[in-house]
Formats: sequence, structure tokens, C-alpha cells
Amino acid sequence: MEILDILILGSGPAALCLASELANQDLNIKGISTKSPNEKWENTYGIWASELEELGLESLLSHRWCQTVSFFGDGKNKKGDTPTKHNYDYGLINQEAFQNVLLKKCKGIEWLNETAKDIKEKK
Ligand SMILES: Cc1cc2nc3c(=O)[nH]c(=O)nc-3n(C[C@H](O)[C@H](O)[C@H](O)COP(=O)(O)OP(=O)(O)OC[C@H]3O[C@@H](n4cnc5c(N)ncnc54)[C@H](O)[C@@H]3O)c2cc1C
Repeated sequence: MEILDILILGSGPAALCLASELANQDLNIKGISTKSPNEKWENTYGIWASELEELGLESLLSHRWCQTVSFFGDGKNKKGDTPTKHNYDYGLINQEAFQNVLLKKCKGIEWLNETAKDIKEKK
């Protein structure tokens, strides 16, 4: 039986972020996922622009909405017509570019196209 330091489960954003952070450490890492890590992510990801700026990843935004506002209410009275200003930009992530950034950092990690069926705790 092969003993690994880290087994990454899945190949979505959480798994690839984790793997990309661990990849440059001297660890024996493998991934196991029902999907290939190269398979296009299905969901559309939006995020506050400042969150990406903190990581130096703002270039990954494919669109940026400035001076965003929200409207709250039940849609039945005028209260919901008043905009609440956020004073933050909101952005649409270019998920292909984001996935590629992470995959580049994960270079060297082997992914098995399998389904994890059980996790047993060693007592
Ligand atoms: C329509 C929609 C829109 C969204 N919009 C936003 C948004 O704008 N902003 C935002 O922040 N979030 C958004 N989300 C939420 C976001 O999609 C999730 O938070 C994010 O995808 C979670 O990432 P994850 O890597 O944890 O899981 P997932 O993306 O679900 O990835 C799970 C991975 O695990 C693998 N897997 C599952 N079971 C097994 C198993 N037994 N064995 C091996 N592999 C397995 C799958 O193949 C997959 O690769 C949205 C979600 C949806 C559905």
C-alpha cells in the first residue's frame, strides 16, 4: 500500500487551492477526483474585487462592476426601492484563467480519476 503525506479529495476550487499551496513543499501528494482537474468548472464565480486584490489576483476578473448597490425588501413596498451602497467593486472571475493558475502551481501532482467511497480512521 502506498503511503502518502497528503491525499487531496476532489478537483474543484477548494481542492486545487489546497493542492497548489502544498505543491511546492517536500511532500508526497496525490489527488483523487471523480472529474479530471482539467475539466472546466461548471459554476460561475463572483467575488468582491478587494478579496482578489488582497491576493494579487485581480487580473483574474473578467468583468468588474463598480459602485455596486443592493436592494432589500419584499418587492411590495417602496422600502425596497432604496439602494444600499457597498462602496466595493464586485467582479466576475475568469474561471478558466483561475483554474489554470492553480493547475500550473499543482504541476507534478498526480490525480487519479476515481471516487472515494470510504474514509477509515486509523486508531
Ligand atoms: C450556480 C452556482 C453559482 C455559484 N456562484 C458562486 C459565486 O458567485 N461565488 C462563490 O464564491 N461561490 C459560488 N458558488 C458556490 C461555489 O460553487 C462553491 O462554493 C464551490 O464550487 C465549492 O468548491 P469546492 O471545491 O469545495 O466543491 P466543488 O466545486 O463541488 O468540487 C467538488 C469536487 O470533488 C469531487 N468529488 C465529489 N465527490 C467525490 C468523491 N467521493 N471522490 C472523489 N472526488 C469527489 C468532484 O468531482 C469535484 O471535483 C456557486 C454555486 C453554484 C451551484
